[in-house]
Formats: sequence, C-alpha cells, structure tokens
Amino acid sequence: MGVFSHPEFDRHESLHYVQDPASGLMAIIAIHSTALGPAAGGCRRWQYANDDDALTDALRLSRGMTYKNAIAGLPFGGGKAVILASDLAPKSPELFRSFGRAVAALDGRYITAEDVGVSVDDMRIVQEETQYVSGLPQSGDSAGGDPSPWTALGVFLAIKSAVRAKLRREDLEGVSVAVQGVGHVGLHLCRLLHAAGARLTVADVNGDNLRQAREELPVTVVPPPDLLYADVDVLAPCALGNILTSVTIPKLRASVVAGAANNQLATAIDGKRLTDRGILYAPDYVINSGGIISVAREYLGQSCEDEVRAEIERIPERLEAIVKEAEETGEPTNLVADKLARRIVASGNADGSTAGQVSNRLIA
Ligand code: NAD
Repeated sequence: MGVFSHPEFDRHESLHYVQDPASGLMAIIAIHSTALGPAAGGCRRWQYANDDDALTDALRLSRGMTYKNAIAGLPFGGGKAVILASDLAPKSPELFRSFGRAVAALDGRYITAEDVGVSVDDMRIVQEETQYVSGLPQSGDSAGGDPSPWTALGVFLAIKSAVRAKLRREDLEGVSVAVQGVGHVGLHLCRLLHAAGARLTVADVNGDNLRQAREELPVTVVPPPDLLYADVDVLAPCALGNILTSVTIPKLRASVVAGAANNQLATAIDGKRLTDRGILYAPDYVINSGGIISVAREYLGQSCEDEVRAEIERIPERLEAIVKEAEETGEPTNLVADKLARRIVASGNADGSTAGQVSNRLIA
C-alpha cells in the first residue's frame, strides 16, 4: 500500500525507512509533527506479520505521540520508531548502534526512548551513537530510567478518577480490575491496584511474566482470549493495541476501560461503540503519558523525581475535563481528546506560549 493513500497517514511530516545489512536493522521512523518541538516517542521492536503492519503501527503510534505530548503540555512533537524484528536480525548491540546512527542522522528532529521490546540497556547502546535519546539509567534523584513505573502510576491515578466518575466510588477497595498483559507497565499497575485494595484478574501470553505476577500478588489468572470479557468493573489493557473492535466491544462486561496500551481502539468509531454501551473509555494517550513525562523531563535535564510525580498527578484532572466535555456534548471521549490535542498543536507556539501554558489554558 502507498504511504500517502494509507488510511493512517495523517499529514505526517516525514517517514524514514532504514535498513542496514551489516546489523540486520530494518526500521521505520515516523515523524508526525514537530509543531510543538522535536518529535519525541519511543522505539518499538516487534515481529510484524508484514511491512504494511509495521508502517501502520509507526503512523498510528507517531500521531498518538503528538496528541499525548500536546495534552501532557510537553514541549515536544510526536514521533515513533519501529524496528522490524525477525529471526534473521536478532537483538544485538550492533543493531541498536545502527538504529542510533539513524536517529543521529535526523539531527534532533526525532528523540527516541524505549517502548515494547526495547530496554534501558538498549537505549544505553543507542546513546553511543546519538545524543537524541532518553530513558537512560537514572543518576541520583534526577528524572530518568525505566519509564514504565511512571506510566503505571498515571494509569493507576486515572483508573481511580474514572471509577469515581462512573461507579461513584471514592476508593478502589474491592473494585475488580482485569489487566491484560503483566509486562513492564502491567505488573507495576497490578502492584499499585493491589495496594489500593482492588481485586485482580490477569492474563499474559508470556509464561515468565505471568509467573512473576502470580508469585508476587493474589491474582486470578484467565486464558488470554477470555481476559477482555472478564466480569469486572474495570478493564485495563496493558498489552498491545487494536483490541477494542466491533467484535470485542459488544462482549465487554467492564464499565470502565482504562489502561496503558497505545491505540486500544481499532478505529475512531469504536469510541462511539463504547459510549453507546455506557462504557467509560479513558483515552489511552491521555492517561499513559507518565512515561513520556519522565522521559521528557530527563531529556530536558531539569527535574527531579518529585517534579515528575507532581506532573503525573495532573493526569486525572485532564481526564476529568475530557469526561466532563464528553458528557456535556454527547461526544465519545476519544474524539473530545483528539480535538483538544489538535487545538493545542494548532495554537501552540503561535502566541509565544509554551505547550504547557496552552495545554493548561485549554484544559482548564
Ligand atoms: P511489555 O512488552 O513489557 O508488556 C506487554 C505484555 O503484554 C507482555 O508481558 C506480553 O507478553 C503481554 N501480551 C502481549 N500480547 C498479549 C495478549 N494478547 N494477551 C495478554 N498479554 C499479552 O510492554 P510495556 O512496556 O509494559 O507496555 C505495555 C503497553 O503500554 C504497550 O502498548 C505500550 O506501547 C504501552 N505504553 C508503555 C509505556 C511504558 O512506559 N513502557 C508508556 C506508554 C504506553
């Protein structure tokens, strides 16, 4: 399929196809927007069924980063990299060095960090080739390191807020939550939910990750295909995207969907399907910004952990503003969030305001 006619192409500023036979690297770096600053977004390494799936992921994820960074009030645009994993190109230091050189060649228009399939150690290797990288090991109490605990914190706070709005419950004691995927974010989220008194149902396709969750926490384990339809109050998708579809939504039993996974909705119309079923959907990029907030603060070199935490604690108020507008207008939450993000991008920098000032003004 062509790029410009691709259904997920959204006037992306540029797309960069990278291949390096020596290391086996095959990657796509998608820069959606630099209107608010350099395009920031993680690097995912995944085995895609075909090249078009990789392109689709890069296009959707990079646009999501534009929206996520805008609503979080960060002085960054949106971009994302996907590395096409294959048995012929196993993970290796040379693969990430090669990726680092590709990032360096963009001369600061794209700043990378870790995402699914990529670790802090991998980013350390990327740093050997480029300064345009974040999510590196932490030093002292300055911001940095693995962003996933921060993502989990933001999602946890958002779940509390959504439960308050939908179930009129002030705490999570006894509230049942199904967590799809107990990887980096999902397991941290389970710890926070358990500490708050929630009852947990989990599934994962990775036996090691599932074992760790089971050993550490009192979780009910269900087979992965059953997780979405668990009889729970909250569904927290923390695996991959495209799980909320015309097929799955009619069978959901949760009243709230709030999780970390990017691109949970297969299409924008699926947001309306959730609204029509009376399910409160917390837009993924609004509530999973904890990690990029940490990564951004680390990159800017300005902040300590307490400041990162304080910024993440503002995620619930952003979600509440979106839910309120959705209730008032009857529009699905995903569309309210998309419109808000586009307004921030359109007015950002125009009058000399920072992205943070514009975001605060429009979300107030
Ligand atoms: P991860 O790879 O550490 O964890 C994902 C987990 O989901 C793995 O354990 C995997 O086995 C499991 N999984 C995959 N398919 C599954 C299925 N069908 N059913 C059940 N489990 C399945 O990734 P992560 O860093 O925890 O990220 C999780 C999601 O959150 C991703 O969509 C990612 O893009 C998004 N996200 C992550 C961060 C972050 O800080 N890491 C930030 C924002 C968004």
